[in-house]
Amino acid sequence: MVLSGLRREMVLAAIDEFDELGRDAFLKLYGYRPAIGYFLLHGGRRYDSKAIAGVAHRGVGGRPLRPDEFSGGSATVARVLGDLGFEVTEPGQTAEVPSVEELLRKVESLKPAVSPATGAQKRHQPLTLLWAIGRAAQGKPRLRRWESTYRELGRLIEEFGLEEDRPNPEFPVLWLHHHGLWDLPGHTDVPAASGRPAQQWMKERQPDSGLRPWAYEIVTDREDIRARIVVRLLSAYFHGVDHNRLLGRVGLDAISSPTSRREAVVERVIRDSLLADQVKRAHDFHCQICGDRLALHRGFYAEGAHIRPLGKPHNGPDEPGNLLCLCPNHHVLLDRGMVTIQADLTVTDTASGASLGDLRVTENHEISQDHLDYHRQVIAKRS
Ligand SMILES: [Zn+2]
Repeated sequence: MVLSGLRREMVLAAIDEFDELGRDAFLKLYGYRPAIGYFLLHGGRRYDSKAIAGVAHRGVGGRPLRPDEFSGGSATVARVLGDLGFEVTEPGQTAEVPSVEELLRKVESLKPAVSPATGAQKRHQPLTLLWAIGRAAQGKPRLRRWESTYRELGRLIEEFGLEEDRPNPEFPVLWLHHHGLWDLPGHTDVPAASGRPAQQWMKERQPDSGLRPWAYEIVTDREDIRARIVVRLLSAYFHGVDHNRLLGRVGLDAISSPTSRREAVVERVIRDSLLADQVKRAHDFHCQICGDRLALHRGFYAEGAHIRPLGKPHNGPDEPGNLLCLCPNHHVLLDRGMVTIQADLTVTDTASGASLGDLRVTENHEISQDHLDYHRQVIAKRS
């Protein structure tokens, strides 16, 4: 049939062109009507699958196909694209378009079991996601043989799970599958994520598995989203765990992969946001100068402000003692040296020297006198 010579890179070229022109112009240019139901999902976005396949055909026959030249129906297009490793929705499936927002929403709605002993949330699901995100970050294939998944994930859960937990990597994989994040290609009778029969099913089928294609693409392509997810998982589920060690174990550690500068930047972002996150939580998101806290839909908002600025020429360190939890206004005023903090932790207006009250402190967040001193001597003096 007509589409049989299609290759993956031809489809990706058509997707690029779709992105460049925009949907309306792309469809109009090649004479396609908007798709109903059959959409190709790529990079968290959706594309009219028949139009993409037709335009991709340029790589086979030298010119794009017109919509009336296809021998098969839309289902055929979906099968051809599916064979090339793309995810294509079917009619009735399109209510939920996987996107960055969808991925974040799914990550925020994990439902780990709770330890009856301590009330702590079990870590199987977040560890499974961290393991998969680490693989994506290292450019490893999306799907992994069950034997290897079972072994690697099992070890990770043993090392970083709650003390009383058994590894049982079958359960998080099955749960994430039903949650819409995990792919078990070729299996339609996937059991619920509990009990012996579920473990038996995995043992018999030995399924290849991994993140769903759209989710894998997002965490591969979007460093910022990857960092957000990792920060979210670490801060929600791994209190009292050595985050750096865990990041290192799942391949998200800059130190263990010095070959890639790009990685180093991302993992630095992750660590910085984690640190700031800890400081903000210590103050429950209240500004340490005015006490305000901003309420947003998803919770409270505050900023982690460095007292001695990072980078040249100040070279301030990234450590809790050099961080304050501030509202956006006071963050700017501190950065510009318009307010400064005295050794006795009173906050003063730089211009007038008037006191603005005491800095709000909390016992588990100690502030470095050296950095406050630097701020007074260098940052506030300049302004
Ligand atoms: Zn404030």
